[in-house]
Amino acid sequence: MRPFAYVKAADVDSAVRAASEPGARFLGGGTNLVDLMREGIERPDTVVDVTGLPFDTVDDLPGGGLRVGALVRNSALAADPRVRARYPMVSQALLSGASGQLRNMATVGGNLLQRTRCPYFYDHASACNKRSPGAGCDALDGFNRGTAILGVSESCVAAHPSDLCVALAALDAVVEVRGLDGTRRVPMADFHRLPGDTPDLETTLAPGELVTAVELPPAPVAANSRYRKVRDRASYAFALVSVAAALEVRDGVVTEVRLALGGVAPKPWRAARAERLLTGGPADEDAFRRAAQAELAEATTRQGNAFKAPLAVATITAALRELSTGGTAR
Ligand code: SF4
Repeated sequence: MRPFAYVKAADVDSAVRAASEPGARFLGGGTNLVDLMREGIERPDTVVDVTGLPFDTVDDLPGGGLRVGALVRNSALAADPRVRARYPMVSQALLSGASGQLRNMATVGGNLLQRTRCPYFYDHASACNKRSPGAGCDALDGFNRGTAILGVSESCVAAHPSDLCVALAALDAVVEVRGLDGTRRVPMADFHRLPGDTPDLETTLAPGELVTAVELPPAPVAANSRYRKVRDRASYAFALVSVAAALEVRDGVVTEVRLALGGVAPKPWRAARAERLLTGGPADEDAFRRAAQAELAEATTRQGNAFKAPLAVATITAALRELSTGGTAR
């Protein structure tokens, strides 16, 4: 491993100052950054350890929301009784990711910032615009079974790897970040970027900005929610397709629905078109399938990943069917 300086941040201001220097990276649980450093993908000059900062609690917000500190471990958040009751999709998404050991280390802030698992990104012998801007993309005509089908560009088709972020997108979570100019709040929809011509830029964070918390707004509909994940094996695998869904039905009519997709886009994909089609309509299998098909209508598929579009339609339909017939659906 390449030599680097290690700084243990004593407070948030010194952490932000240190990380604003070129070549600096924050260290939380280290479950992605350390792997990337071992592979020589990340080559920081300075690692700023923020694990001593006071961002490790989950606190109630007025109206029933929660404020989740960025250093809360994934396993702790998944087990929190308030999360399990008010936002079951969040707990299920977390428990579907990684392994028990990794969940004990990984933090909420790090989960937002984890990088793609596209195999070419990790292979220095391959062309990868995300790793080396302008180099090309070997995934376009290569092994692209796991790549994205929505929101892609000719520069990059990598899928976002997070499960938690899919649930956060469905819930309209807000990311609190601290930088040299103070604190700002970023809606989840604006936190991650689509690749366009600059796939190396993955978030809208400015250099040195630190994720300090994620707010889950009050969302009664989320009490009837589900995270459904399709993958190659039952654990320790990234999603081929995943769906975070919440549904409220009254007298057979959809009164509120939240839908977001994972494994199919370079960022957590809010299925806004499907939500619009579903709201106010019948809560039945045909309507669920039609809305899902509309959401996937503009998918850009390749030979290796064409299966993802019908798989996403089936997974959305199944998640909504389950929510409409069980749980707390009325
Ligand atoms: Fe790199 Fe993106 Fe292409 Fe994968 S899909 S090789 S991450 S540019």
